Amino acid sequence: MTKNKTNTLCENTADINNQKKYADRVRALLLEKEARLGRKMSVYVQTFGCQQNEADSERILGSAISLGYVQSEKLEDADLIIYNTCAVREHAELKALSKTGQLKHIKSKNPELLVGLWGCMVNQEHRVDDIKNKYPYVDFVAGTNMLHRLPEILCDVMENHRRRYYVDDGDYSIVEGVPVKRESDIKGWLSIMYGCDNFCTYCVVPHVRGRERSRRPEDVLSEAKELIDGGCRDITLLGQNVNSYGKGLDCGIGFADLLESIAKMDGDFWLRFMTSHPKDVSDELIRVIKENEKVARHFHLPVQSGSNGILRRMNRKYTREDYLGVVEKLRRAVPDITLTTDIIVGFPGETEEDFEQTLDIVRIVGFDSIYSFIYSPRHGTPAASMEDKVTYEEKTERFARLMELHHEKIVEINNGYVGKTIKVLCETPANESDRGEYGGRCTGNKLIKFTAEPGTDLYGKFVDVEITRAGDVQLYGELRKQ
Ligand code: SAH
Ligand code: SF4
Repeated sequence: MTKNKTNTLCENTADINNQKKYADRVRALLLEKEARLGRKMSVYVQTFGCQQNEADSERILGSAISLGYVQSEKLEDADLIIYNTCAVREHAELKALSKTGQLKHIKSKNPELLVGLWGCMVNQEHRVDDIKNKYPYVDFVAGTNMLHRLPEILCDVMENHRRRYYVDDGDYSIVEGVPVKRESDIKGWLSIMYGCDNFCTYCVVPHVRGRERSRRPEDVLSEAKELIDGGCRDITLLGQNVNSYGKGLDCGIGFADLLESIAKMDGDFWLRFMTSHPKDVSDELIRVIKENEKVARHFHLPVQSGSNGILRRMNRKYTREDYLGVVEKLRRAVPDITLTTDIIVGFPGETEEDFEQTLDIVRIVGFDSIYSFIYSPRHGTPAASMEDKVTYEEKTERFARLMELHHEKIVEINNGYVGKTIKVLCETPANESDRGEYGGRCTGNKLIKFTAEPGTDLYGKFVDVEITRAGDVQLYGELRKQ
């Protein structure tokens, strides 16, 4: 768990300069290895968890490549394997640990291999102890705030031939300029802030990602411009609670201003954001969405529960009435907006009546997608010590009922698209289009499968698709003549 230390919000230039020195030493060590082994040294980064982790992994990979590694397509061929881990639910941790266990075998075959665990899971003391004691073939761990320190970490491990543990030390300065290797050239993550101050009682994120801090607007805007100029067509602004962007920066720019500034940039692109906390959705934000066509017609608004009692014990700071009020305002301003949500089933003490309230809110709103999770107790969080009489069987049964209701609603919602023609960003590369089957997403973030002349190069283009059929997770259609 992280210590509470005051944040410095400016970038830490001293640290960047330090890293340059380490980077030179790592480059030299890699060249020496390459000469000895007669091959390039390669890196493989695998992500567990959320979009923020995906964005961080692109920095880890970019940083490793800048040191001289080449990207390995296969885990088994790599000389540096980094797993970027998640701690939000136990399942995610167990998966990362089990995958880590499998590396023992690979490591025994390649004595050059370095193994690192990164991110949320290893920013918890008890997990670091697990790694120290049970996974001797892991060479280093690094917490979420170590992104700019990969050169130092690798240098330390390579030169000293020791296992190293770079757990977050509570220094939450933002360091700009970490190299990035993006997975897609048409879709891009753009982190606008880090950490979280909300402390929902079930959630480990504030404990493993530290206090909330925002990047300076000029840094965000220049990265947005870079993405747009580089041909990116779909940008997602990332933060645990994007609505509180700017707090602590004292520059008078809030999230709605930032969103509007990017939406007004030249270029053909959609602009998304996640995640919004329902307690902070402002009228100004709704106005910006309404007035700027480039802002995608999709709002991810996690409700977590429909019961006021549970919301209070979750420390969510809104009621079901507040939530429904936000939904109504959004729909009044932007009638075609799609709404998605997160729901936790089986929070400690959740009664049948509480759960009925959640079903009720799903019935009223009609979400386009629901990410639902069975509550998972998290080490050190208040909810983990709350009394819980709900059995696992009851929780799974409620989960199934929630999914069943959502299924009924989504079929109805998606059928409403049939016969309409909608704009889709095609994500199928030309070399995968020989069967005339293409895929992409619309402004509402729905997945669209469509047919067109085989071999047409539509990758990264906005095209008109007529919807002919609706499924529960995707829509199907045909390309309209352009
Ligand atoms: N900052 C975002 C996302 C946080 S984690 C937000 O506030 O919405 C993503 C989702 O994981 C949460 O919305 C919540 O639904 C779920 N989650 C978090 N902690 C959980 C836990 N202990 N058990 C089950 N689901 C959890
Ligand atoms: Fe977790 Fe709540 Fe922060 Fe989201 S807002 S990251 S759920 S503490």
